[in-house]
Amino acid sequence: MVRSGFVMVNSISHVSINKRRLLRDLNSVSRIGIGDHGSVTRLVFSIKELRGRQFLIHLMRQAGLQINIDRTSNTFGRLNGGHAKAPAVLVGSHLDTVIHGGKFDGTMGVIGALEAVRTLKEQKVPLASPVEVVCFVGEESSRFGYSTLGSSLVAGEVHGKDLSNATDAQGTKLEDILASLGIHRRNLRSMRRDPSTLKAYMELHIEQGPILEAKEKRIGVVTSIAAPTRFKVIFTGQADHSGTTPMEMRKDALVAASEVIVAVEKICRRYSRMEKGRVVGTVGAMKIEPGVINAIPGQAELSVDIRSITAAAKNRVVRLVHAKIREVARRRRLRVDILPIREEEPVPLDKRLVHLLKECCDARGIAYEVMPSGAGHDAMQMAKITPSGMLFIPSRRGISHSPLEWSEPEDICLGTQLLLDSIIRVANETI
Ligand SMILES: [Zn+2]
Repeated sequence: MVRSGFVMVNSISHVSINKRRLLRDLNSVSRIGIGDHGSVTRLVFSIKELRGRQFLIHLMRQAGLQINIDRTSNTFGRLNGGHAKAPAVLVGSHLDTVIHGGKFDGTMGVIGALEAVRTLKEQKVPLASPVEVVCFVGEESSRFGYSTLGSSLVAGEVHGKDLSNATDAQGTKLEDILASLGIHRRNLRSMRRDPSTLKAYMELHIEQGPILEAKEKRIGVVTSIAAPTRFKVIFTGQADHSGTTPMEMRKDALVAASEVIVAVEKICRRYSRMEKGRVVGTVGAMKIEPGVINAIPGQAELSVDIRSITAAAKNRVVRLVHAKIREVARRRRLRVDILPIREEEPVPLDKRLVHLLKECCDARGIAYEVMPSGAGHDAMQMAKITPSGMLFIPSRRGISHSPLEWSEPEDICLGTQLLLDSIIRVANETI
């Protein structure tokens, strides 16, 4: 039977994951980088992140997968199918976290993929295509302001100019770290994976939002991924004595920045109501110079992140925010620099995979929600080189990037089981 390009082989798999092993390994990974109040910190290219990947490699080796690690440390564990040369089904997510993040963001997708693949191997499930578990490095942007690094390199989507402003809080440049790994501007594209070696990419992730819980659904089938436009704004005024400089003679960079922060919120709220595409905008980080109680701030640097699932809505808001920044600078007679960090287009996921994932839920009688993703994921990069699909499970109270991040074990197991069901179909059916 042909359905939307996939040939159906079986409607429900009778292969079941090992729930205890899945939850045990998930728990073990979440202890790496554990801090106050159960928070988890594994920043990209840190020792903790490396330890997370080492543990994954240990599990992959135990499972008898063929391990391959690329120059950026993206880690692949392969299970060969009937045709070793056939394009592979890639399944995974990331193990790096934000600062003081939660246990499940990314980690569940990697360990869930591993559990699905080792179950396939143990139970000798016939697979036409190879299946690979992947852990991408640097999905989170908390260290360098640069997200989905590993998958962007695999998709050939990292551009030299994007790296110029990617620096961590200690002043370390992402570009220098990449150079130490043998990746330079001239060979960025060399990390790209040949699309002919891939059949599809699948990712299981926590929702990181409140919709599934509100709608009392245990599974989300993702249709598209909102993309961010990110830039830095630096206002430069004059640092002066806070006691001797009259109000009308000041060039206060922080007051200008404050106007922008409020404007970002106002503009996004206005456009979320008017446009069909929801737009969200955030100023999440700020640096003030000199940053002391008795000096007028001479410089204020803020980061702006604007996202939507439609490019038109996002671009319009970005234009309005830029115009506001320039207006504030002119009126307050300050210098302003706007430095682009990342410019991404919202990404639709593969319609055939959306359909297939819905069928996998139907086959088990699971009610699901068809929804876009407000957060960025590795799938948005992979979608540029191969058909990509995503499943969500609920996040309690929608909380993520926090030690309070929580998903119910039963939902984690259900999501992993559906991931396994879908892998069997994608690996055995023709696209
Ligand atoms: Zn994530």
